[in-house]
Amino acid sequence: MESANDCNIPKEEQKLITVAIAGLPNAGKSTLMNSLIKEKVSIVSSKKQTTRNIIRGIITEGTVQIIFSDLPGIFVPNNKHPLERKIVKSAWLGILDADLILLMIDARYENQEQNKVLIADITRKHDRIILALNKVDKCNKEILIPLAIKLNDGYNFEKTFMISALKKSGTDDLKKYIISQASKQHWLYESDDMTDAPLKFIAAEITREKLFDELRNDLPYSITVGHDKLETFNNGDIKIYQTINIKKASQKLILLQDKGQLLKRVGEKARIEISELTGKRTHIMLFVRMTPNWVDSFNGSIYSTGSEY
Ligand code: GDP
Ligand code: MG
Repeated sequence: MESANDCNIPKEEQKLITVAIAGLPNAGKSTLMNSLIKEKVSIVSSKKQTTRNIIRGIITEGTVQIIFSDLPGIFVPNNKHPLERKIVKSAWLGILDADLILLMIDARYENQEQNKVLIADITRKHDRIILALNKVDKCNKEILIPLAIKLNDGYNFEKTFMISALKKSGTDDLKKYIISQASKQHWLYESDDMTDAPLKFIAAEITREKLFDELRNDLPYSITVGHDKLETFNNGDIKIYQTINIKKASQKLILLQDKGQLLKRVGEKARIEISELTGKRTHIMLFVRMTPNWVDSFNGSIYSTGSEY
C-alpha cells in the first residue's frame, strides 16, 4: 500500500533527520513522542541501520521524515554490574548514530546531580544537542530563564526550548526546528508502516521500560522481557503475551511486591503506551518465569498476572 506521502514526494526531494531523545526517567520523553506523533505512528525496528536503537516513532510531513528513537536504557550507572554497563553502552551507541540529540530535562530540576553527569556525558559524545526544558506548566516561570542560562553555561546547546509535552505547549516550535534541520536523503520508512514483528519487539521494550520506571534502584538488571505471542481480533484489538524472565527467587519477591500491584501497574502503563502507539485497544498478559539460565529455553510460568489489562 502506498500512502499519500509516498506517492507525492519524489525520492530526490525527500529529506531525513534522525533524533535520539535522551533524558532521565520521568523527564517526559514518552509523553513528548506521543504528542508529536499524534495518531500517525509507524513502529518499525528492523530496517537499515536501526538495529541498535529503538525506533519509537516516525513523522513524515511534506518532504521531511523525522525518525525518533527513545533511549530507555540511558541512566547514570551507579555500580559496575556488567549487564548495566551493556545497557548503557547500547544507549550510547544510539546517541552516536543520531543526527541530533534531544535532551529532555524536567524544568523543576530536582535530579541535579544525575542530570549534570548526563549532560557532561552527552556533550562529550555528540556535538549537536538541543535542550528541552519540560513540564513548564508545573513550575514557576521565573526560574526558567536562569535555569536555561545555567545549563547552557559551558555547553554548546544548539537551541533551548521550553515546553510542556503534556499540554503540548512549545512542542510545535520544537518540531519545526527539527524539520528545518533535515537534510536531503531518501526516507527510510513508509509513513504508515506497521507490522507485527517489530511491534512485538517494541512492546517488550516498553514493558521493560515500565519495569525500570517502577523498580528504579531496586531493579535487578538481569530481568528481561520476552515476547511470547500476539493475537489480533476481528474488532481490531490486539492481545500481547509477554514473559518477564528472572534468575532468582529474591527477584520474584521484588516483582510480586504489593500483592502483585507493582506488576499490575507495569502492565497498565505498558498497555496504555502500546495502545497509544498502535491506535488499537491493547490487552497485555504478563507472566513471570524463573530460571537461573533464562537464555536457555525454559518451560512453565510460575506466576501470571491472571487478568487482562
Ligand atoms: P519518560 O520516562 O521520560 O518517558 O517520562 P514520561 O513521558 O513517562 O512522563 C513521566 C511523567 O511525567 C508522566 O506522569 C507524565 O504524564 C508526566 N509529564 C510528562 N510531560 C509533562 C509535562 O509537560 N507536564 C506535566 N505536568 N507532566 C508531564
Ligand atoms: Mg518513557
